[in-house]
Amino acid sequence: MNRHGHRWLNDCVNLCQEIIQIPSLSGQEKELANFLQNKMLELDYDEVWIDEPGNVVGKISGDSSLPTIGFTAHMDHVSPGNEEDWDYPPYSGTRAKGYVHGRGASDTKGAIATQVYIPQLIRDSGVEHGDIYVFFVVLEEKGGYGSREFDKSPLDLVILGEPTSNNLRIGHRGRVELLVSIEGKSAHASVPSKADNPHYSMARFLGRLENLSMNKYNGRESSAAPTLYRTDQESSNVIPSKAVLTMDWRNVPGETTGEIKKIIGGMLPEKGKVEVNQEELQSYKGTNFIQKRERKPYVLPESDVFVSAIENGLTNHLEREVDVNWWDFATDAGCFASHEIPVVGFSPCEEKFAHTSEDRVSIDLMEVSLECYPVIIDAVSESTD
Ligand SMILES: [Zn+2]
Repeated sequence: MNRHGHRWLNDCVNLCQEIIQIPSLSGQEKELANFLQNKMLELDYDEVWIDEPGNVVGKISGDSSLPTIGFTAHMDHVSPGNEEDWDYPPYSGTRAKGYVHGRGASDTKGAIATQVYIPQLIRDSGVEHGDIYVFFVVLEEKGGYGSREFDKSPLDLVILGEPTSNNLRIGHRGRVELLVSIEGKSAHASVPSKADNPHYSMARFLGRLENLSMNKYNGRESSAAPTLYRTDQESSNVIPSKAVLTMDWRNVPGETTGEIKKIIGGMLPEKGKVEVNQEELQSYKGTNFIQKRERKPYVLPESDVFVSAIENGLTNHLEREVDVNWWDFATDAGCFASHEIPVVGFSPCEEKFAHTSEDRVSIDLMEVSLECYPVIIDAVSESTD
């Protein structure tokens, strides 16, 4: 293979730089959405539009007897934090040392920059394909509103652009953010006997939690981590009447939120309560909605016909073993999986750079992705013979 010889690589790198230069925090993706829509209108899509939730969607029509594939990544990114921590300014999109640098490069603008060119890659390779949707969603970092509201009905398979270093991902644990509260009785700290101090009840709960045996799934395990703690008091000489603990619970497939609440409820005193945390959000289109802090787990069997076809196709093409594994973090995949749509992760982005001040995407890996998309499409088309 020629180094940096791919026909679309330069366009792809330029686009990657441009889209990093357009900040797109969750709920503020409008400018980037309009930019991508215009870019996609210049390319060989049959249709390009922005849907109701604000996602940008491009459609390439194909043979209706072949599976319909959706390629997707998210437009929003987390805050860059302190600019001084960055070697390259977070919205510079600097190209240096074989990478494009900046916030969102690895999560997931590097994937967007490659997926945009899928119509060109299909045309150049002449690969047979069904309908293909390339869509870039909003508000992934805030719970997945864009994917949840996306019209999933045509899709037979989703290729998700969350970081995989051009390997395959076929599952992850879910995430449920819980608020555990315990009520007691307030009193002046000089007379603790008059109070029912909720700290002690919370301490007993935490002791039980530490020793809790977690549900398992095929060698993987759910986990529970207390993270934040607060009370209803500001004064250090008053015993509070309420203590609230925030918990981050990662659930294996099969463990539902209802089950988790039951497990926690069983460890709480009578005046204890557990609920899923939620927040009120607004999309850039002005829609207000309540978002539960909850991502669903998902897993595909390695024997899944799409997974094995794609794995074989990529192994042959790349002449290396392709790692088929789970992600450590949660993604939008659960939104699709709960509609019985298989989700396979494939992306040039690298997990180790996501959400860090070293955020970057490798130009070499982007080039490999550009080569691999037609291979993936071909493998999926062939798998239905
Ligand atoms: Zn992401």
